[in-house]
Amino acid sequence: MRTPSTLLAAVLLAQPAAAAAAPADLVIWGGPIYTAVDARPKVEAVAVRQGRIAFAGGRAGARALVGPKTKVIDLKGAALFPGFTDSHAHLSEIGQRELTLNLEGSKSAAEVTQRLKAYLAERKPAGLVEGVGWIETGWPEGRFLQRADLDAVAPDIPVLLRRADGHALTANTAALKAAGIDEATPVPAGGQILKGPDGKLTGMLVDNAMALVAKLRHPPTREQRLAQFGAAFKVETAYGWTGVHFMSVSWPEVPLLEEMDARGEASLRVYNMVDAAQAGPLFSGGPRATPDGRITTRGIKLYMDGALGSRGAALFEPYSDAPGLRGVFVTEPSVMRPILAKALASGIQVSTHAIGDRGNATALDLYEEAFKADPAKGHAARWRIEHAQILRPADIPRFHADGVIASMQPSHAIGDFHFAPARLGKERLKGAYAWKSLLDSGAVVVGGSDAPVERGAPLIEFYAAVARKDLKGFSNADWHPEEKLSRAEALKLFTSSAAYARFAEKDLGSISVGKRADFSGFSVDLMTAPEAAIPKGHAVLTVVDGQVVYDKR
Ligand SMILES: [Zn+2]
Repeated sequence: MRTPSTLLAAVLLAQPAAAAAAPADLVIWGGPIYTAVDARPKVEAVAVRQGRIAFAGGRAGARALVGPKTKVIDLKGAALFPGFTDSHAHLSEIGQRELTLNLEGSKSAAEVTQRLKAYLAERKPAGLVEGVGWIETGWPEGRFLQRADLDAVAPDIPVLLRRADGHALTANTAALKAAGIDEATPVPAGGQILKGPDGKLTGMLVDNAMALVAKLRHPPTREQRLAQFGAAFKVETAYGWTGVHFMSVSWPEVPLLEEMDARGEASLRVYNMVDAAQAGPLFSGGPRATPDGRITTRGIKLYMDGALGSRGAALFEPYSDAPGLRGVFVTEPSVMRPILAKALASGIQVSTHAIGDRGNATALDLYEEAFKADPAKGHAARWRIEHAQILRPADIPRFHADGVIASMQPSHAIGDFHFAPARLGKERLKGAYAWKSLLDSGAVVVGGSDAPVERGAPLIEFYAAVARKDLKGFSNADWHPEEKLSRAEALKLFTSSAAYARFAEKDLGSISVGKRADFSGFSVDLMTAPEAAIPKGHAVLTVVDGQVVYDKR
């Protein structure tokens, strides 16, 4: 029997329920919806109001929120996830790849030559020609791209073709001449000018040596930059990403992205890590964000060493296949120290590229040194190491101990494992791409693609994290299958942990009431599909702040 006081309680309780029943702007159902919340990993429906998640639960609950103006999306069996974030991507280069000569997927040096020839015939360029995306892994020629490959079809016009990892490029003879580079040119610190057995230039310039041809380029115009970002937003949302952590942003790009957001043209959530050499305005002005938070700038990016493929990664012991080489420090510790001290003092997040075991150990040493100034601040600073590729087993627990985030790119492993055993030997492979060991040690691991170094497809990254096999299904003991992640662990790499790594775990990273409505829908159910089916899937629905930015259901 109801007493007046229980009646009153019923009325009071009913009020918030009535307020919550205001119609939603968007309701999504019709497929499995994974939340990345351990307590309730799967729901039937989500509802969105004013760009935020208003409901996550059963279909009946969502139906009650459908009003006359509610947009209702039927997933038709596709699977929905919290918005996938690429925690390490280079947006301008992704756009550039779309707008210039795209060499991604070239299966031989001969194919690069053919693609260059076709590009020249079609575009008839008058000035410098640039291309991006070749990588010699698996090429029948068994070597890097050389200037002769380019000279064959471009004898007179300067051509620069960047290797996919961004750490090397091949210049043709015309470009070398125009830049005044010959066999006598001194090798810049932190770089390599490759020569053949005959002592002649091969045309390949590695790491800091790439600066020797910088004078051939005009800085991109404002219009070119805007076009690059437009192209990048389009390709990223079509892959199913709702956000990226944009690495090595040049300072002039920051206001351009903010402008695009103000005009409603930024369909992607962007978190900027500014190239440390240009970060003066960030240090003086402090972290910044657009009013809706879509474009946020809070960090800097540093480079400790080079890359493994071009033997620039700094190792303790020499490369197994090049006994004279131990890689290079792209930035000397003496240069990094004052930058790190200043960043810690001013609340600027630091991301440092480190690939080799010596690169990673040194970056951790430098972080620890900086944290000594203010240990509590240091532990909460969420500084990151980008790639964290080759670690001495003893360095693995240091990530958790120091509160340092490991930002890793699963697709690097499944590409690199074709040559990493030759570069490193079996022993050093034990700490290579060791994402499971890092997670088990308590470290936060976030996932990304490093696009355009890799294609930049979330499903390839997810597959690589859980399968540790190449796209043909190949793997062996050297690939250390024990480092595979579970599906639930892999999901967090791109969702909740990615949010934490940009200080946005209250707003992003899971399907929870109150968070921003960022969703990624894929044709495959990543939690249950057979491993091999994962990379064959595609994005079907991308939603950012409740706005549908890509829909191919
Ligand atoms: Zn990168």
